[in-house]
Amino acid sequence: MQFSDFGLSQPVLRAVGEEGYSEPTPIQVKAIPHVMEGRDLLGCAQTGTGKTAAFALPIIERLAKTRVPRVAKRVRVLVLSPTRELASQIGESFASYGRHSGITSTVIFGGVNQSRQVEMLARGVDVLVATPGRLLDLMNQKAVTLAHIEVFVLDEADRMLDMGFIHDVRKIAAEVPKVRQTLLFSATMPDDIRQLASKLLDNPVEVAVTPVASTAEKIDQAIYFVEKADKRSLLGWILEDTRIDRALVFTRTKHSANRVAEFLDKRGIRSAAIHGNKSQNARERALDGFKRGTLRVLVATDIAARGIDIDQLAYVINFDLPNVPEAYVHRIGRTGRAGAAGQALSFCEAEERPYLADIERLIQMNLDAVSKHPYPSPLGVPAKTDLTNRRNQQAPASYGARSSGGGRSGGGGRPQGQGGGRAQGNGGGRAQGNGGNAARPPQQKPRSPQDRPQATTTHDAGHNRPRHAGTR
Ligand code: AMP
Repeated sequence: MQFSDFGLSQPVLRAVGEEGYSEPTPIQVKAIPHVMEGRDLLGCAQTGTGKTAAFALPIIERLAKTRVPRVAKRVRVLVLSPTRELASQIGESFASYGRHSGITSTVIFGGVNQSRQVEMLARGVDVLVATPGRLLDLMNQKAVTLAHIEVFVLDEADRMLDMGFIHDVRKIAAEVPKVRQTLLFSATMPDDIRQLASKLLDNPVEVAVTPVASTAEKIDQAIYFVEKADKRSLLGWILEDTRIDRALVFTRTKHSANRVAEFLDKRGIRSAAIHGNKSQNARERALDGFKRGTLRVLVATDIAARGIDIDQLAYVINFDLPNVPEAYVHRIGRTGRAGAAGQALSFCEAEERPYLADIERLIQMNLDAVSKHPYPSPLGVPAKTDLTNRRNQQAPASYGARSSGGGRSGGGGRPQGQGGGRAQGNGGGRAQGNGGNAARPPQQKPRSPQDRPQATTTHDAGHNRPRHAGTR
């Protein structure tokens, strides 16, 4: 199956080609033909499966074919997302996939000043991606009307309900015209989602794909608890192992990708960074060098890594943990393809511990901690995550010290700063180290692997190098 088999127009196919997608993912194969026909759809698929394109491509197609003049405050397509991160990602996807089709899109979410959002809406927009709370606020202020919606998409519906947005969703749905196309995506299909679907959808087609989390089981995974300031040194140390002939390193920001690549280059490890600020040419050059083996390390942000498909990539290193847990599964899915052995190594600084707990709950396993490395976190190794807990009840945006405070789609309740959801310092059963103080204890940093200090924890399997992670 090819993208061209769907009957998509040239501008959309061109954008898909530029994203580097060679063929549609299973959810795209199953969903796109029905959405193109205008059917309602109930999709059981997680983020990471390619579901955004599964709904965005046919929507862009529809909008481009039936253009209408922009009218102030009017919207043609509404996509509801539980979190600002997901909303931003969806907005970026519409912008990318629709870049040659002349459609307009905007994203609104809480926790930030609304004036720019109001301005964008005042011009009228084809596609509005929104979190429920901010959307309701702006509806109440009459900054937007939903009376002209043609397609209504609810993404991550189960998470939306987990986060307590059911009333908001109902209020919003009541304002959308009855005659419309409705698409509902959810990673799980508990009764409450089925009930919601039966109210919102009209004779829907149901499609499902294997949960993304299942791919994680095939890959060797290990976690290094480390201080933020030591991450680059730890990466350099790991890459002294020449068996790692090629590694894809993920960072959360473009800036960090640049800094990591520069650091590695200085240490004689040939690397390049790819991210959204690099030209298409520079990205292609870097990717090509990586594929041919002239570059040993490619440092990428999630967005830039889209569509990267490299056979026999044995190592993925998460320099930063993603704050959207599905992104972890997607990242590590770059390795271990087609039955090949794959290893995913992740660094976790204090503020990322809550992200780790979310990831572990998603993949339903605790990652093995490597404790014998030269840069152990003074907070020690946290206790295992309780995998039976349901997903976190709030938006990832408000995790940890990066919190910017919320709006209705954020909300408090999660421990802040370095006191994450896990046992810290001397507070938890398995925690080791120096008592959880924020300050780094006086510690001689090793210069090379030869002067490695003794492990500060006792539960390592006895080896230092990636393949042999200990357990926690
Ligand atoms: P999503 O589940 O929509 O969040 O997509 C997960 C990731 O898969 C995103 O980084 C997309 O850019 C990427 N993606 C979507 N469709 C394809 C495809 N057909 N081939 C390769 N990557 C894809």
